[in-house]
Amino acid sequence: MGSEFTLGLGRKKKKSALPEPFARLQDTVCRECQNLIPAAQLAKSLQVCPECGFHMPMHPYDRISTLVDEGSFEEFSQDLTSGNPISLTGYKEKLDQARGKSGINDAVVTGRGSIDGREAIFGIMSFQFLGGSMGSVVGEKITRAILAGAEEGSPVILVTASGGARMQEGIFSLMQMAKTSSAAALLDEAGIPLFIVLTHPTTGGVTASFAMLGDVAIAEPGALIGFAGQRVIEGTLKQKLPAGFQRAEFQQDQGFVDMVVPRENLRHTLSFLLQTHATENKGWMNR
Ligand SMILES: [Zn+2]
Repeated sequence: MGSEFTLGLGRKKKKSALPEPFARLQDTVCRECQNLIPAAQLAKSLQVCPECGFHMPMHPYDRISTLVDEGSFEEFSQDLTSGNPISLTGYKEKLDQARGKSGINDAVVTGRGSIDGREAIFGIMSFQFLGGSMGSVVGEKITRAILAGAEEGSPVILVTASGGARMQEGIFSLMQMAKTSSAAALLDEAGIPLFIVLTHPTTGGVTASFAMLGDVAIAEPGALIGFAGQRVIEGTLKQKLPAGFQRAEFQQDQGFVDMVVPRENLRHTLSFLLQTHATENKGWMNR
């Protein structure tokens, strides 16, 4: 299928070599329980706090290493970098700093890989890169990833972590909400599944666009998932909000999340979803 999608992503022969998993990790104070957790322990627990169970934000490459089959990942659009579309003072420097610290060019890593031999397209966001904010590069890469799924008949798995739209790019960041949502609609029309994994935190314009458009919405335990923040809502409603408001478990009760899956089970859950939504000849679109 899919001759109408011409992205020119092609099939690169060379797989990307991922950095050594968790090599960048440092001893970290858990923001939920304030315990200092040694890096070695965090690597073993997949960055879940052994004291309180808080699922800490992960670097996209570490996430990919824990999810996809070894050696199967091919990164897309790795060199895509953001300009400064509204000529905001200091934005370029902030981007340079974030690139230097993270080793990635913007707040999402996308590519093709497999889980237990079943191919999928992946998009993994990074909260550490300018708060995982969605600017033109994040929107473009997410869109390309979704369209690659439509073109190839491969399910798309997006792991979200974001504070929302990247205001340093003004209107160019806001239009990414419409762009990514349109791509998700097109994937839906092609009958190809979109699996979303909501991680801590997923808020603002990302929640208000593709993050809520999955066929199956998975969330990590305790993840903050919402649009506006609790303080803003309390201020507007002039009411106290219930305990656990906007956490993954609360959103599951409200019907926004289908299942809450601990990080150690995530690969298995995604493998199961790929298996149960697959046909051997990728015949999703026969409907
Ligand atoms: Zn903790």
